[in-house]
Amino acid sequence: MNVKKLFRDDLKTFESYNAKRIDSRIKLHANESPFSVSDELLSEIKEEIVKCSFNRYPDAMSEDLCKKFAEYAGVDYKSVIAGNGSDELIQIIVSTFLDRNDKILLLNPEFSMYENYAAISSANIVKFDTDEEFTFDPQVIIDKVNSEGIKLFFISNPNNPTGKAYDRNTILKLVKNCNSIVVVDEAYGAFYGESVIKDIDDYENLIVLKTCSKIGGASIRLGFLTAGKVILDEIKKVKPPYNVSTTTEIIGKVLLSNKSEIEEKVKYIISERERVYGEFLKIPYIEKVYKSSANFILFKTKRAHEIYEKLLEDGVLVRDFGSGVLKDCLRITIGKEEENNYMLELLKKYNG
Ligand SMILES: *Cc1c(COP(=O)(O)O)cnc(C)c1O
Repeated sequence: MNVKKLFRDDLKTFESYNAKRIDSRIKLHANESPFSVSDELLSEIKEEIVKCSFNRYPDAMSEDLCKKFAEYAGVDYKSVIAGNGSDELIQIIVSTFLDRNDKILLLNPEFSMYENYAAISSANIVKFDTDEEFTFDPQVIIDKVNSEGIKLFFISNPNNPTGKAYDRNTILKLVKNCNSIVVVDEAYGAFYGESVIKDIDDYENLIVLKTCSKIGGASIRLGFLTAGKVILDEIKKVKPPYNVSTTTEIIGKVLLSNKSEIEEKVKYIISERERVYGEFLKIPYIEKVYKSSANFILFKTKRAHEIYEKLLEDGVLVRDFGSGVLKDCLRITIGKEEENNYMLELLKKYNG
């Protein structure tokens, strides 16, 4: 028997997510925080972990954890669902609302996992190319959503991979006028400041996503979904029980109880981002540096792939984008000051 005969036709040309491990001394490719948790939090985590019942399932709805997040974000805990990373929540949203051939709208460029999960659900993927500054006219999007019968519209804000942020008014105009579910993915919200998370009670079609991954907790895989009751009840039908492990719940609670530690590190990264932005502007072969509201910066250079390889050889891993609109772009995550300086020195050296 040839097992491949049993595979889905539509996955034949599908490629697995490119998360292959490349070892390098300095990692500026995955938008992680360069800071681990403080020793203080670490001992708090150790103290809590030994108390857990390893033989028991976690709380199926992670209620205590959702309460901690609700406090952190200033929302009602009954509006929150926790996930095994926001990646899982994206998949759950797609499975909840998209039947075969249902339409989903995505900006281009956009975070690739929306398209990935939509394709696995055999949805009809409609793309909207943003302009050369990665902006759009919200009315054009609204008309498109409503005239084409789009059911689901994901938007990362700030956008990954561009770092572009759309202001609250623009986002709320979309939410208010689109006859679709609008998912606002605020994975990088901490580095921007504006949020629509407190607007979930006013808009029945709004879902907001958050994650611990970009603020120092990528290892524990923890994300949050917030929405009004009507949508939340539907999503609960699809959410797997026990999707957040007890250890993640324990660590997540400690992390989120220490907002000031997170905020201090966010402040550092924002200040480094602005400094690095200024330095990028001085490098002659970089044709365009995009202003960023996230913890990374995208820039354009015809030498993108060559620079990517050179950096890798010198111990710095960054993100390049094989083809498509960003083929001449590199995305560099903001690291610690010394990491950023080393990366900048290398970029300047390659000028010769
Ligand atoms: C990193 C990222 C995520 C994934 O978050 P996890 O919680 O690590 O799964 C979601 N959305 C965007 C836009 C991201 O960049």
